[in-house]
Amino acid sequence: MPDTISGERSSLKGSYPCTVPLDVHNHTYASGHAYSSLQEMVIAARDAGIEYFAITDHGPATPGACDPFYFRNYGIVPRLMYGVKVLMGSELNILDCEGNLDIDERLYPKLDIVLAGIHRVCWRGGSKSRNTEGVLSVMHNPRISVITHPGDGTAELDFEALVRCCRDSGTLLEINSSSMLPWRDKTEAIPNNKEIIRLCRATDTPLIMGSDAHISFDVGNCRYAKALLEEEGFPVELVLNYNPDLFFSFTGVRWRGEE
Ligand SMILES: [Zn+2]
Ligand SMILES: [Zn+2]
Repeated sequence: MPDTISGERSSLKGSYPCTVPLDVHNHTYASGHAYSSLQEMVIAARDAGIEYFAITDHGPATPGACDPFYFRNYGIVPRLMYGVKVLMGSELNILDCEGNLDIDERLYPKLDIVLAGIHRVCWRGGSKSRNTEGVLSVMHNPRISVITHPGDGTAELDFEALVRCCRDSGTLLEINSSSMLPWRDKTEAIPNNKEIIRLCRATDTPLIMGSDAHISFDVGNCRYAKALLEEEGFPVELVLNYNPDLFFSFTGVRWRGEE
């Protein structure tokens, strides 16, 4: 973890800006239960003022998601579209307490960014400590940059252990806005996310918000995550959506547009 956080702080003091310059959790048609094309999503990102925008379609274990072959062809996708810097990645499924993921490791070089999360439809969980071991082993995988929606209540997790692991592993925990939508009925999402936010605040650990957009109209929409972080008085400079340089140095992710 680089030592740049304190240096960045002075320039970013104040309440949260409306525009989120970096949104790295978004899905297209290819995810099987999302409703917009790649181009519609990127145009929406341009309109929302997003500078860095990642497409992270679900890994193959999600019902209706694409074949791994989809990711192999990412090389044809321009990384600069409509003025938006695009990263082509995936949100993989954490499958079990061993931290197995649903993609062949040989595909990683094709992905600009890799997120991983637990999804009820393809998760074989265990006790709280075993679940935590699984997620910790994923965090230590150098290819994984973000654990998506750890607070959504799908698996019982030791958040203190996860937060402790962020800096060593260069992995961020996501405060997922979509899982706090009232109609999704994820009753544990708000209290769990509050706990993660408080633990990160107490240890100066950065976080990332995720819109988890499954339709172009939700691109950059981090409304619920933002409201909770602001309510908890979480320092804006530790929310890496507002600080792309620190996001890239913390995670080791690179935008490949200049290659
Ligand atoms: Zn999804
Ligand atoms: Zn997810």
